[in-house]
Amino acid sequence: MRKRLIVSAASALSLFLAVPASAAGFEPGADGLGDPYYPTLGNGGYRVSHYDVRLKYQPATDELEGTTTILATATQDLSRFNLDFALKVSEVRVNGRLAAFATSGDQELEITPARPLPKGSRATVVVRYKDVPSTVERYGGYTAWRRTPDGAVVAGEPVAAGWWFPGNDHPSDKATFDVSVLVPDGTQVISNGVLAGTASRAGWTRYDWREDKPQATYLATLAIGRFDITRDTTAGGLPVYNAYSKDLGENAGAARASVERTGELVDWLSGYFGPYPFSSVGGFVPNVRSSGGLETQTRVFYGPGLFARGSNTSVVVHELAHQWYGDSVSLSRWSDIWLNEGFAQYAQFLWSEHENEGTAQELADYIYAYYPADDPFWSVKPGDPGEENQLSAAVYQRGAVAIQALRNTVGDATFFRILKGWPTERRYGNATVADFRAYAERVAGRRLGDLFTTWLFTPGKPATGPVPPGAPAAGPSAAGTTADRNEGARPAEPKSWRKIQEATAVHAERK
Ligand SMILES: [Zn+2]
Repeated sequence: MRKRLIVSAASALSLFLAVPASAAGFEPGADGLGDPYYPTLGNGGYRVSHYDVRLKYQPATDELEGTTTILATATQDLSRFNLDFALKVSEVRVNGRLAAFATSGDQELEITPARPLPKGSRATVVVRYKDVPSTVERYGGYTAWRRTPDGAVVAGEPVAAGWWFPGNDHPSDKATFDVSVLVPDGTQVISNGVLAGTASRAGWTRYDWREDKPQATYLATLAIGRFDITRDTTAGGLPVYNAYSKDLGENAGAARASVERTGELVDWLSGYFGPYPFSSVGGFVPNVRSSGGLETQTRVFYGPGLFARGSNTSVVVHELAHQWYGDSVSLSRWSDIWLNEGFAQYAQFLWSEHENEGTAQELADYIYAYYPADDPFWSVKPGDPGEENQLSAAVYQRGAVAIQALRNTVGDATFFRILKGWPTERRYGNATVADFRAYAERVAGRRLGDLFTTWLFTPGKPATGPVPPGAPAAGPSAAGTTADRNEGARPAEPKSWRKIQEATAVHAERK
C-alpha cells in the first residue's frame, strides 16, 4: 500500500531542475536499519543529532499541530531518504528548500530534497504537520497516542514517536531533544529532561522541555493534562520532577508513596551502577487505563494500575535501573533486549536483598524451580527471544537468573565491578549482548562462553540452577516436569516475588 503525494507542481518542477548531472551516483537511503525484529524501523543513509519538536495541542478536540526540525548528517550520497512518521504532513523542507514527499508502509515518509545530499553533509529537515493522533492506527490497529479526560499521553515500546514527531525511529540513532508545546492555560505538559521555561499569552501556555543527553526516539515521552507536580533535589544534588494526574482516584496515595521515593532510589542505584547519567530524574502517572510502565528517559511513565494493589517501589527500581541499562547504554538491535530487561529485573533482586525480602540467590532459585522443564517459559532464549517474545517473562526472569549465574561464576567483587563498569564504559552509546560478554570476560579475565550459551542462547531448562560457589547443585526434582511442580523441594516464595512478578507482567502489555 503506497500513496504518493507531491506537495505541489512547483516543488515537483524545482526537483527536476535542481538535480545536477553530478548527482548520478546518488541513491535513496534504505527504508529501515535492518533490525532483525523490525527491519523497517529507522532508516538508512543519515544520522540525527538533534530534534526540535514544536507543537500546539487542543485537548478538547485532540488536534495536534507541529513543526519538527531535524539536524541530520548524510552517511551516503542521498537522492532521497525516509523518516518514520504516522501523522498527516503538509510541508517538508530540506536545507530551506521545499522537498517532495510521499508516504508508504506503516510509517515511512519518503523525502526527496530539491538538491541531493552528499555523504558527510549536514541537512536541516523541517516537517510541518497537523492531525488528530488518537485516530491514527498503524501496525494493524495500534495507536501509541492515548487521549485522557484532560489531555493525552504518548509512551510506547518499540514504536510511539511516529504519533508526535517524525524521526529515525530506532534506538541505534540517538539525539538530543527540545520539546516545546503550546496548550490552553490550566493544562500542563510533561516531557523528558529539564523544564527550561513556561510562558503564557492570550489563553495559551508554552512549556519548553530540554533533554541534553542522547536519547532514543522510543524513550521520548509526552503527557498533557492537569497534574500535581512535586519538585525536589536528591541528596546527591540531582533535580527531581514528578507529576501525578489530579484524576488518579483511589490509586493517588499509593502512586505518590512509590514515585516520591525516586530520589532515594536513584541515589541507591548509583551505588551499584555508578553516577546517574542524566541531568534530571522523575516520573509521571497520567490518568490512562494502564498497568504498564516504561523507562522513558529521565521521566518514567507509570500506569496507575501499577499502584492498584498498594505502593510498589520494586517497579520504580526497575524503571530507574533502565536509565543506566537501556537509556544511557541503549540497544544496538531489538534482539539485544536482555541488556535492558535482564538487568532492570536484577536491580529488583538487589532491592529485594536490601529490603530483606529475599536475596538474589533465593529469587533465582525460586524462578529456576517455579517453571517445570516442560513449561514454555524455558523455550525462549533471552539472548535472542524473537520479536513475539521480546517482552516475555523469560527475558526478564530467566534473564535475571542468568545474571545471578554470572555473579556466582565470577564472584561478588568482579561481578559488581562489571555491573558498575559497563554503564560507565558505554555511557550514551549502544551495545549488543556480544559486546557485554566481551566486556565481562575482559573484567573477569576468563572466558564466559559456556555461561552465556547455557543461560541466554539455549532453549530448554539448564540442567542445574545458578549454583552459588561451594553449594551442591539443585536436586533432580527442580528440573522435573509439571507433575513434580507441587512436590516438596521447592524453595519458599520470597516476600518480594509478587511485586517482581507484577513488574514483569505489566511490561507485556506495551505495544
Ligand atoms: Zn523494563
